[in-house]
Amino acid sequence: MQAITVKEPGDLLIETVNKPELIEKTDVLVKVKAAGICGSDMHIYHGSNPFTVYPRVIGHEVAGVVEEVGEDVHDLAIGDTVALEPISYCGECYACRKGRQNVCEKLEVFGVHQDGGMREWMVAPASKWHKLNPTISYEAAALVEPLTIGAQATSRGGVEAGDTVFIMGAGPTGLSCLILAKQKGAKVFISDFNQSRLDYAKEVGADVLINAGMADVHEVITKETNGELINVVIDAVGTAETFAQAVTIASVAGTVVALGFNEKPSPIASLFITKKELTIVGSRLQANKFKDMIQLVNEGVLKPEEMISHRYEMADVQEAFDTLEKEPDNIRKIVLTF
Ligand SMILES: [Zn+2]
Ligand SMILES: [Zn+2]
Repeated sequence: MQAITVKEPGDLLIETVNKPELIEKTDVLVKVKAAGICGSDMHIYHGSNPFTVYPRVIGHEVAGVVEEVGEDVHDLAIGDTVALEPISYCGECYACRKGRQNVCEKLEVFGVHQDGGMREWMVAPASKWHKLNPTISYEAAALVEPLTIGAQATSRGGVEAGDTVFIMGAGPTGLSCLILAKQKGAKVFISDFNQSRLDYAKEVGADVLINAGMADVHEVITKETNGELINVVIDAVGTAETFAQAVTIASVAGTVVALGFNEKPSPIASLFITKKELTIVGSRLQANKFKDMIQLVNEGVLKPEEMISHRYEMADVQEAFDTLEKEPDNIRKIVLTF
């Protein structure tokens, strides 16, 4: 079978490898049908993901059809449409005991630390495959994973109906946060330097668009919130500057959610945090969000396939990566079909 491998940074190829087989009695063999390309796949391609061990089969936004199940698997059957939950964890460390296995001490992400799903067949334990209704397309199923990222960020931010939420950055992660914040009934502000991304955010339901290159963010938000500022700020950009601004723009008793992986320190006066009694939280991947997101997709409440702007066949993966590299602003989500 064929697999999309990053041999070493900058070297993407389609390799012929052995088709995987069931090893454990809890394993499930899935014929992969669709996989989303994510910013983090791009980082692996560029050698800028510090966790990656090369060579690596990439892909963590994966869906397909069950072809074979181990003898101890009872809740999945041949023909089921499934989405991959791409993390494995120890189940014993402090984070795992707290139900926060996304930050397990021994966390491994498929497509980063272990081989991922951009290949024709994939085997993983049944607990990593979540079943969707047969009416849901494979590409929608593949995009449940990015939805869980927004579900995690809005849950870490404690977003509730009536809250004001400010999402910094209208790329794929920002969009996912937007979709979930709207679903929870918040009034959502979103900023970006790119107007076409903002226009799309409007279509998805953003209430207030802020083009950060043209307008003064602080001024717009002060005016629109009658001086209250923002209850939950989600920093999906992650620069030293956006993080500092997030703390400044948060309201009293507000929450700041950091999604970035920036190592550059941010100058933040403790006064802001104390005086407003802010909650500042990180949000990484997701914990226990697949079931809820799948239910919303099954019910038609969320339609993740609307995020797709480009589709490519597996054989054209290099073209897909090149397109994403050349015009990232014009791309929301690329899905590969297998
Ligand atoms: Zn992703
Ligand atoms: Zn653990």
